[in-house]
Amino acid sequence: MDVIQNMMEYSHQSTHFFYHKSSGLKTIISIHDTTMGPALGGCRFFNYKSESHALEDALRLSRGMTYKSAVAGVPLGGGKSVIIGDHTHLRSRELFRAFGTFVNSLGGRYITSVDVNTTVQDLKWMHETTRYVTWPNESYGGSGDPSYMTAYGVYCGLKSALRHQLAKDSFAGVRIGVQGVGSVGELLCEHLHRDGAILTIADTHKARLAVVAKKFGAKTVAPNDIYKADVDIFVPCAMGGVLSDDTIPHIKAKIIGGAANNQLLEDRHGALLRDLGILYCPDYVINAGGIINVYYALRDSTDGFNAKHVEKARKHTAEIEGTLDHIFTVSSRDGVLPHEAASLIAREKLEQARKSQSQS
Ligand code: NAD
Repeated sequence: MDVIQNMMEYSHQSTHFFYHKSSGLKTIISIHDTTMGPALGGCRFFNYKSESHALEDALRLSRGMTYKSAVAGVPLGGGKSVIIGDHTHLRSRELFRAFGTFVNSLGGRYITSVDVNTTVQDLKWMHETTRYVTWPNESYGGSGDPSYMTAYGVYCGLKSALRHQLAKDSFAGVRIGVQGVGSVGELLCEHLHRDGAILTIADTHKARLAVVAKKFGAKTVAPNDIYKADVDIFVPCAMGGVLSDDTIPHIKAKIIGGAANNQLLEDRHGALLRDLGILYCPDYVINAGGIINVYYALRDSTDGFNAKHVEKARKHTAEIEGTLDHIFTVSSRDGVLPHEAASLIAREKLEQARKSQSQS
């Protein structure tokens, strides 16, 4: 893979490769853009098919983080790290201490956090060699579980979609299908149930599904049947890539918006949704509550994360509703898809910030 050629395509600032012999650590840290602030993004531990796949993932995910923070109005840049290998065999304190040393060598340009196959324990090991790491445990100066803010942000964002697509101001009587009732999905169900929505839920974890169904009087369906559910809104809160050629033709909902990252299997699926008259809420816009939460925790970390910071994060997260209003307006006015409008807005904000920095 041509590394610099790939970086040039989306203007990545730097890509760092590190190897630590005794722990077997092989890692790539990609810093997409630090115009808005230090690049923040989690560390993914994955047994990639090849180094090219790992690099591609790091580049793609770090760019996504820049856009997410820019659209959310959070002064953070975009970065991401990947550790290459089987986490079940390679995980060790030595490996994460070495990783922390590499992160530290970047002098704060990159701040790491949790992602697929990394745990809070791993982050604590990193913290032994770098302070440029953040995690959700409040007792360690983290921001608390980000799922609360993520769920609240999705709830606020869906209000915008409801107005734009169904001309409604309330969820009362609106039929909503939630895929995945884990940390975010369950909390979101709570908001929607309180507002009178009629819930249909699916989860591969049967015991969890039963508990959540009982709590909110929700109907349950098998995991594969949630796409076909007779609902007005489909809410993906499980995994990415769920909007594809296989699933989209079954979807009856007129709105899609949820916490899962990278919901569109390919960019062209955004156009397919539009052609079917379905309004798609770009995932990184509607699920930005988590990063907003992290930002306030980082900013105010000197005196710990407390109720005051939670309130600020909540207020900022509520702005996701207005941000989506703007995205849907730009999308209809300019004839672009909502996720394209979101990217345009992110790029414009970055451009403005670059200009004002070069003038000062
Ligand atoms: P979670 O692991 O707590 O919940 C996911 C739930 O989905 C689990 O209950 C799991 O059993 C279920 N699930 C898995 N495969 C399924 C399938 N095929 N059909 C139905 N259910 C299935 O995760 P979470 O923290 O609630 O996050 C949900 C999604 O939102 C993830 O994609 C995550 O990356 C994304 N996200 C989360 C946050 C956050 O703050 N937690 C922030 C941004 C994005």
